[in-house]
Amino acid sequence: MRFPLSLTASLTGYLAKKRIRGEEKFPLVMMLEPLHACNLTCTGCGRIREYKATINEMLTVEQCLAALEDCGAPIVSICGGEPMIYPEIGRLAREILARKKHIYLCTNGMFIRKRLHEFTPTSRFFFNVHLDGLEKTHDLCVERDGVFRDAIEGIKAAKAAGFLVTSNTTIYKETDIEEIAELFAYLHTLGVDGHMLSPAYSYAAVQTKDIFMSREEIREKFHAASTLLDKYNLMTSPIYMEYLRGERELMCTAWGNPTYNPRGWKGPCYLMTDAHHETFKEFIENTPWEKYGRGRDPRCQDCMVHAGYEASAVLGGNKKLGDTWKMLHWQLSGRMGGARSKNGNGHVNGNGQSKSNGHSVGRPAGPLENNFAAKPQEQEEVFRIL
Ligand code: SF4
Repeated sequence: MRFPLSLTASLTGYLAKKRIRGEEKFPLVMMLEPLHACNLTCTGCGRIREYKATINEMLTVEQCLAALEDCGAPIVSICGGEPMIYPEIGRLAREILARKKHIYLCTNGMFIRKRLHEFTPTSRFFFNVHLDGLEKTHDLCVERDGVFRDAIEGIKAAKAAGFLVTSNTTIYKETDIEEIAELFAYLHTLGVDGHMLSPAYSYAAVQTKDIFMSREEIREKFHAASTLLDKYNLMTSPIYMEYLRGERELMCTAWGNPTYNPRGWKGPCYLMTDAHHETFKEFIENTPWEKYGRGRDPRCQDCMVHAGYEASAVLGGNKKLGDTWKMLHWQLSGRMGGARSKNGNGHVNGNGQSKSNGHSVGRPAGPLENNFAAKPQEQEEVFRIL
């Protein structure tokens, strides 16, 4: 399985309810930013620049939970800023999990070891660690030496304690996809459960324009990425990957990944801010959705970012025959757990710098054998819904 069965079951049940009710615009993944403060100043980050004036503001746990209740999304991506410096991150995660939601905690990984004791492993919770390359490249992207090593130590500690861990990589104009293949080969040996990819996109707040790509450049990069990275447990949907490779069109469905932060619901999307709304209903009803997307707003022209298009595979109007089967096959053909059951930290030198034999690592050796196998009733529920 590419994802835990509990996630597939919860998402499928949620979608079925929405379809029965005839709802058109609803969220799949809530992007929750409890704070914008961060211990790093990454080159491509729009948040620390756009929200510079309010960088010290924070949501309370209660405000986060009220917003989650307001939108009802089944998956919460806790991001920021750096959520691991949020004082009550452990309680926030526990409260969200108590509401039967799934969490991706997006982090630079530097504080995982320090705060790991505040979390409990479950199939509903992932540490999603930002890594944009091997040690030298990553430390350059985040503008500080030692970040890659800290993140890797965090990943090792989380895996040793039984947590699910994914990696999250932004592809820039200068990204060498072969290096990303080496990174994935290395993470595979650490037992990392899956990998997310997204093209970098130019935030108005980020002035370094030459790191971002045009649509043509994105297509070239993701062709190469599919060839070299497909053997790993990619958690980027195959339909979104087709879009990134230029093989199909999708419409922006930015309401599928709404962002909530100390200023409110950010409209229209994770990248652009034309307004902040007090309630989710206001965000949906007061955002002029027909004005956004390619060909409608010049700021959207080259945008292929996950927050606008990954949910389009499920929420968009231009579905193709066979898409449902493609998504089902994709879920069933993946494997979490990396290579941890066989060769542990194996053949890579442990610092992510090795010119490893990454390309020969291949698929994980066996089925996921961990503490997270779905209960029989969960399995039944998934197959009933599917
Ligand atoms: S196309 Fe991109 S920038 Fe434009 S609204 Fe959608 S997600 Fe935002």
